Amino acid sequence: MKPIYLDYAATTPVAPQVAEKMAACLTLEGNFANPASRSHRYGWMAEEAVENARNQLAQALHCDSREIVWTSGATEANNLAIKGVCEKLDGGHIITTAIEHKAVLDVCGYLETKGFTVTYLTPDSSGRISVAQVEQALQDDTCLVSVMYVNNELGVINPVADIAALCRSKKITFHVDGAQAVGKVDVNLERDGIDLLSISAHKFYGPKGMGALFVRRGVKVDAQIHGGGHERGMRSGTLPTHQIVGLGLAAEISVQELKEQEARLSALKQSLITGLSQVSGVTVNGENTVANIANVSFSGVDGESLLLSLHDLAVSSGSACNSATMAPSYVLKAIGLDDETAHASIRFSMGRFTTADEINQAVNSVVTVVQRLRAMTA
Ligand SMILES: *Cc1c(COP(=O)(O)O)cnc(C)c1O
Repeated sequence: MKPIYLDYAATTPVAPQVAEKMAACLTLEGNFANPASRSHRYGWMAEEAVENARNQLAQALHCDSREIVWTSGATEANNLAIKGVCEKLDGGHIITTAIEHKAVLDVCGYLETKGFTVTYLTPDSSGRISVAQVEQALQDDTCLVSVMYVNNELGVINPVADIAALCRSKKITFHVDGAQAVGKVDVNLERDGIDLLSISAHKFYGPKGMGALFVRRGVKVDAQIHGGGHERGMRSGTLPTHQIVGLGLAAEISVQELKEQEARLSALKQSLITGLSQVSGVTVNGENTVANIANVSFSGVDGESLLLSLHDLAVSSGSACNSATMAPSYVLKAIGLDDETAHASIRFSMGRFTTADEINQAVNSVVTVVQRLRAMTA
């Protein structure tokens, strides 16, 4: 028996209809050609598939298809956005948050070595970054603000629309890591003045190794990968038709199903939390969270024993495997958890294929294990 998969925030399986469409873009019989080949029908067909996917994504995000730049994922999109805006400047100040994904934090850390200064905002205990915090951190030389839409460990939703309005009034470029947002919250780039948005296909039932950066018209981003001038010069490299059509269809389906899945997953999350609360000392971390993520701490249990005992569940823990040691999650520490509680925390992340039966089984496993571990140390 395989463990129950409750790690959809780490990655999702590719939707069957998406996999099928991707497979049709690989072989001689299929749509395999180079989309940049302008001299024959094969190329035109591949280009048409790529542009169709670009339109699907643009519709899902409510933007213009010419504002989409394909990348290999959200990591690359974050690099392109942050370095692409900052590196051409002669230093400056960046505002970001202490709870960003490493794909933002490490880029900011790199820019610190190049003469930039960075303010890392810490959320309150609810996990949320406020507009007032961003406003207070602004400096005369602030060149970029980067705040994630939905935090990947807690599921907390940040007020990015309000931060966007603030940044626009100050004429400062605003980047958002939206990897956990597509298909979970109503991303609307026509409504919200976000300048740059990173997305990742494998977080919404598309393939790994595929993503995009939304670059609002008029925002100038310098290429990080040169060679051929694809994607209006912002990102060179032969376009992977199969990956792109996969992302396009996956985005379309995820946005179509958002409301329905949100309602279904909210109910599952509620029954998960109610079930886990049978044991004492259970805390749900973060407020105002997406329906698919529940981050829960268990007091009085050893984190490592907890995770080892839960071998019938595929979940993430509040410990990050740093080559040799297990470090407590910097996100959980940032919202005020001590090391011990951070280690004894579990992120349950559900998705399209999670069933009520699986949640019941997960509750039973966790409750049994927590009771057993507590009895052993009592
Ligand atoms: C998964 C994730 C990333 C990285 O995306 P890749 O496509 O795997 O590079 C970046 N930011 C957040 C918030 C994520 O959840």
